Amino acid sequence: MDNHKRWIDATFKLIEYRRTLESLMNPDAEVFDMAVQAMRRQAPEKPKRELDWTDTCYKYYCPACGMFLGQRGKRNVILFHRPPYCNCGQAIDWTEG
Ligand SMILES: [Zn+2]
Repeated sequence: MDNHKRWIDATFKLIEYRRTLESLMNPDAEVFDMAVQAMRRQAPEKPKRELDWTDTCYKYYCPACGMFLGQRGKRNVILFHRPPYCNCGQAIDWTEG
């Protein structure tokens, strides 16, 4: 696990612990759920890849919300439109392998 992921995991634990305490005192604590969700999306995830029905290209989707992110031909390396972040805030890891 790299340092960035380790730091994010530690932050999640802290926020989730705090959220548990908060929910005992205050049942209206959704703001912590939102904070946890926002923090989680900063850890880059690989996009979901699906082969197109024409069997000629791959399509890439956000792993968090399922939004279409881009596509590439089966035999070429050009990937169109490769955003570092999805609109939902999920960081996308475009490294191969
Ligand atoms: Zn998304």
